[in-house]
Amino acid sequence: MLTTFNTRKNMQDYSIKKRVLVTGGAGFLGSHLCERLLNDGHDVLCIDNFFTGTKDNILHLLDNHNFEVIRHDITFPLYVEVDEIYNLACPASPIHYQFDPVQTTKTSVHGAINMLGLAKRIHAKIMQASTSEVYGDPEVHPQLESYWGKVNPIGSRACYDEGKRCAETLFFDYKRQHNLKIKVARIFNTYGPRMHPNDGRVVSNFIVQALKGNSITVYGNGSQTRSFCYVDDLIDGFIRLMGSADELTGPVNLGNPGEFTILELAEKVIAMTNSSSKIEFKPLPSDDPKQRQPNISLAKKDLNWDVKIKLEEGLEKTIAYFQKMISSNQ
Ligand code: NAD
Ligand code: UDP
Ligand code: UDP
Repeated sequence: MLTTFNTRKNMQDYSIKKRVLVTGGAGFLGSHLCERLLNDGHDVLCIDNFFTGTKDNILHLLDNHNFEVIRHDITFPLYVEVDEIYNLACPASPIHYQFDPVQTTKTSVHGAINMLGLAKRIHAKIMQASTSEVYGDPEVHPQLESYWGKVNPIGSRACYDEGKRCAETLFFDYKRQHNLKIKVARIFNTYGPRMHPNDGRVVSNFIVQALKGNSITVYGNGSQTRSFCYVDDLIDGFIRLMGSADELTGPVNLGNPGEFTILELAEKVIAMTNSSSKIEFKPLPSDDPKQRQPNISLAKKDLNWDVKIKLEEGLEKTIAYFQKMISSNQ
């Protein structure tokens, strides 16, 4: 066994235990990723400014001596030493990313520059949590990675969509200009335990409304579609992407191709919670995409990844989580 290392490359080659930075690690996806990485035996550094993430999400990890948390905003430089970086920091729910849109763009763009600058200095591999929103309101269905998207650059969703598009540009320019090892995942709607109950996203909204017996707020006529991926499937995709060969940069779609109308989702949640809630139709937010479904053939082929958890099974687990949360707050 090697006890001394001459270079960082040697450290990466001979050590199975990696030092991994997760930005946005106290958020919904970030907390699941931190947990998975710790379970896999790695040393995890979670960076978060707690804008939408919570300490509760990572409370159960704090006793693990391989886990460390720093309160930090990635729009400011960060000097740490790690082997891999997962860049997840960014509010993901439309309500939250539109609350301070300038900060949202700064997080995606300045944040990406800082994390890429960090990766460049320490020769770390870096993965970007991009989004299906780069496709905007798509004219191609289902969406393939080769589709360039249809995004309104001046609308209320643009701070997020264009910020994420610019972050992808930066990732590919840092690769071309500085030969960085990059990975870009385009994440489609993902749900599960630890979504914030007031997050505003459709799955958490509907479940919390149904459990409380409140009206289920369907925006528009509910005919718009989304494809919902359970969090465990997505995290498995992240790990496979990060572990893939260096030539495999992405962008790669990660999501569940099962497509449902929002009205179907509302009816499913009402039935699964045995709720007396009624559906209430509300105005459709501007630029709300009409349909969204990932084509995941690239991830299947190159990452040998596929989804395992069907919507009903994932909803069951998520409903159980919110049920517990609501009853413990009563
Ligand atoms: P989330 O809001 O639960 O998590 C985001 C985390 O980032 C939070 O903990 C928040 O406090 C932190 N954060 C925000 N701005 C920051 C900053 N400037 N510096 C440091 N930390 C900051 O959202 P999520 O669903 O966990 O999403 C995680 C990532 O995945 C985001 O980048 C999001 O765009 C992307 N994504 C998520 C989905 C999804 O369906 N969940 C879909 C597409 C893309
Ligand atoms: N940066 C950082 N941590 C580091 C190295 C760089 O946060 O360990 C930030 C730094 O603030 C810089 C940005 O990353 O502004 C981009 O770095 P890069 O080296 O690409 O560009 P430059 O420093 O030349 O602007
Ligand atoms: N939506 C809804 N009721 C809600 C929240 C969302 O009908 O209470 C709709 C929203 O208009 C969109 C879809 O559900 O068409 C998904 O919204 P979400 O905010 O979860 O994600 P995104 O729009 O980013 O896909």
